[in-house]
Amino acid sequence: MNDKYNNDKYENGLDRNAANYAALTPLSFLRRSATVFPDKVAVIDDDMTLDYRTFLARCRRLAAALAQSGVGPGDTVAVLAPNGHELLEAHYGVALAGAVLNALNSRLDGASLGFILDHGEARVLIYDTEYEAVIKDALAGLTTPPRTVAIERDGGPASLDGARYEAWLDTAGDPDQWRTPADEWDAITLNYTSGTTGNPKGVVYHHRGAYLAAMSNAMAFEMNADTVYLWTLPMFHCNGWGYTWAITAVGGTHVCLRKVDPDLIYRRMEERGVTHLCGAPVVLNMLLADMDQRGRALSRPARFALGGAAPPSSVIRKARELGFDITHLYGLTETFGPATLCVPQPDWAALPTEQLAARMARQGVINFAVNDARVYDHERRRVAPADGETLGEIQLRGNTLMKGYLKNPETTAEAFRDGWYNTGDLAVMHPDHYIEIKDRAKDVIISGGENISSLEVEEVLYRHPRVSEAAVVAMADDKWGEVPCAFIDPRPGLELDVDDLIGFCRQHLAGFKIPKKVVLGALPKTVTGKIRKNVLRDRLAG
Ligand code: AMP
Repeated sequence: MNDKYNNDKYENGLDRNAANYAALTPLSFLRRSATVFPDKVAVIDDDMTLDYRTFLARCRRLAAALAQSGVGPGDTVAVLAPNGHELLEAHYGVALAGAVLNALNSRLDGASLGFILDHGEARVLIYDTEYEAVIKDALAGLTTPPRTVAIERDGGPASLDGARYEAWLDTAGDPDQWRTPADEWDAITLNYTSGTTGNPKGVVYHHRGAYLAAMSNAMAFEMNADTVYLWTLPMFHCNGWGYTWAITAVGGTHVCLRKVDPDLIYRRMEERGVTHLCGAPVVLNMLLADMDQRGRALSRPARFALGGAAPPSSVIRKARELGFDITHLYGLTETFGPATLCVPQPDWAALPTEQLAARMARQGVINFAVNDARVYDHERRRVAPADGETLGEIQLRGNTLMKGYLKNPETTAEAFRDGWYNTGDLAVMHPDHYIEIKDRAKDVIISGGENISSLEVEEVLYRHPRVSEAAVVAMADDKWGEVPCAFIDPRPGLELDVDDLIGFCRQHLAGFKIPKKVVLGALPKTVTGKIRKNVLRDRLAG
């Protein structure tokens, strides 16, 4: 009959063209919001408030200034700045110049920053003068240092030669060109992982993933044009888990925050009507402790997305009391931040707090742009059954996975082996298909053939009223092979009786999980605040 179209009828004459296909890029969010909401407040900072029209204009001027400085496709632009409007502008302006943004971790030392600037081959470095001392250290060791552009705010005038951010933007005039990537697979940002050992790895993000991460994170966190987002989460961490783009996508308001100070956070939340914020449990914990001490509570509820570590049930409980609605997220730098989230089920609302907290402490189910997640039992070479018991590694695949590690094909191939991204996190799959992390691959304690989750022991230790921070690692033992050892930082000003703590563990843990040794004192941390368990293990071995 109609042979002309035959089996290819859904292909023939149905090609991609400029009208029906465009590279996905978060740059389109800015253009849309500036058209839809030109007069709406896009960014609130200490020195300026920007409506969407002005925000767009400044991003374009940044792109033009970069182009005038010789920056183009394939180049890297590094930025070391607090969570201010300049770093937000860089999330658009750098990509508009066709270049790749490398937002630097402000807690790093000069040597690490020097390594990153060199490895990422930054052509331009935009830095806030608050960090000038460490920048001088970083630049000292470089053979081809980047051109510098100084942001002069709380840190005062720059002493290094180079451009000054505001004057530099002014030299760019008022360009109206719009440049988008030819290919959605083009790199948009470069983010170095903190790593507890060795040199950091440069994780490369693509425009497509950035677009999809922003869309799915906005959906996951129920955001819209009324969203007022407070920047408690560093923008340098996975580009602020994609919220640098997501807030703009929904036409919400970015409220900047140059310093994570609990009193300032609370006041800004109240003054600006903040609806959403994110951070690690340690940030929320600090905020809650401060609010509690001052007898404060939120005058209207706000949503807090927690990630980076599992929230102890005590934090979830207190947060709810003081007016926070908690969303628990899990992800890695390699997954553009949030890869799974603990989606609440309708019947959870009626659960007693302890049971609810136990459900919410799980890492949950896949985020929208992640295609699949599974728990893989490498030993038995099979997908772990959804029994809540069989331990395996979390593997992920989908559209918000990195391109790979910059200039590091072996490590990239290793991370993506078997067609999955291997996270190194050990978890179980519950019968309701919620994932729960039990440990990092190297953190399991195997005692007499039984696996002990250090997280489970830590969860109990954190519930003790005199414990501020706890970390549990394996200690060699003649009889059992390994036994748990607890390192505890007690709450300031309170005596902690070790026998009392062990008695407390006995009430809540199986006998073999009770720490056999307790060491009191401050805990060593990485620059991003993660407890360095490898240092604790070395202490025990040494
Ligand atoms: P990073 O790449 O620095 O963001 O670190 C990622 C690692 O943080 C993951 O591999 C996990 O070990 C840990 N992590 C992130 N989110 C969570 C969470 N919700 N619960 C437990 N661990 C987490």
